[in-house]
Amino acid sequence: MTTTTDATPAPAGDLTSAAVTRPEIMPEPRSAFERVLVAVFVAVPFLALIAAVPLAWGRGLGWHDAVLAIAFYYISGLGISVGLHRYFTHGSFKAVRGFKIALAVAGSLAIEGPVITWVADHRRHHKYSDKDGDPHSPWRFGSDWKALSKGLAFAHVGWLFDGDVTSQEKFCPDWLADSDVSRISRWFPGLVIVSLLAPALIGGLWSMSWQGAVTAFFWATLVRIAFLHHITWSINSICHTFGKEEFEVRDKSRNVSWLAILSFGESWHNLHHADPTCARHGVLKGQIDIAARTIWLAERLGWVSDVRWPDAARLTAKEVDETRKFGSMTRRTAAKPAG
Ligand SMILES: [Zn+2]
Ligand SMILES: [Zn+2]
Repeated sequence: MTTTTDATPAPAGDLTSAAVTRPEIMPEPRSAFERVLVAVFVAVPFLALIAAVPLAWGRGLGWHDAVLAIAFYYISGLGISVGLHRYFTHGSFKAVRGFKIALAVAGSLAIEGPVITWVADHRRHHKYSDKDGDPHSPWRFGSDWKALSKGLAFAHVGWLFDGDVTSQEKFCPDWLADSDVSRISRWFPGLVIVSLLAPALIGGLWSMSWQGAVTAFFWATLVRIAFLHHITWSINSICHTFGKEEFEVRDKSRNVSWLAILSFGESWHNLHHADPTCARHGVLKGQIDIAARTIWLAERLGWVSDVRWPDAARLTAKEVDETRKFGSMTRRTAAKPAG
């Protein structure tokens, strides 16, 4: 159900009146075939991740493989963080057409679903964070240790097998109306094949050997995808259960510092729920946010504009410990009042 008419995308959350009356969950549940596909894409890379440790130990990891794995991790990971999350879901900045397309393609290479499906699920998560209707809250079954253990597993990966399908017409009318984005969303199966095979092709040509293609497929495809999946899913599970509440929120989102670098800054998830459209999530001094630095660079290159950088005055009102300093990129036009 996509349209190909061009329209200016509405900002995140600004739903049309037609969308307001639509149901949030599609009447048709996820099919058995789709669930099997999800299972394959969850299980196979994960098995590779387990096998990776003894293989690396036995010198089965060459530097070509390492370079390719890190490069594809960055491209697909930033595609999720800068693209699908901060831009397509939350409208933290405006992008020129070429950069918008690049972000949609890069995010698709993470194999976390088509752009519009990802955005619709994530907008539903923000609408109902840790309440009934949230597609992946770890608090779904209760708060005693048994219910929470079950909830953590559900928030991490179990929710992918849930029958509920978020309505795209309800949660994502803006991008459904954008012909570039709806087309890239439909091309998802093709982009999955690119993401699976491109590392093997480059690895094979680089080393001019079949063995180079096979090891690149193992490291830069299977291990890279498994690792990125589990880091992304940790934002839904770990960052809604453990960590610090540095900003006041009505949900259980928390800031988790040890996941910051691997998640490109997504694990500053407590601030993100306190101020969802903010382009930098690690707003406090010392909180590394690679995605925010990427947006900063793109702004300098003229690829993005109207970036919603952190606003000191707005954030101070939500800060739990007001003595903490904000990092760079923060607008201080109306700084904290003296004293
Ligand atoms: Zn979000
Ligand atoms: Zn969240």
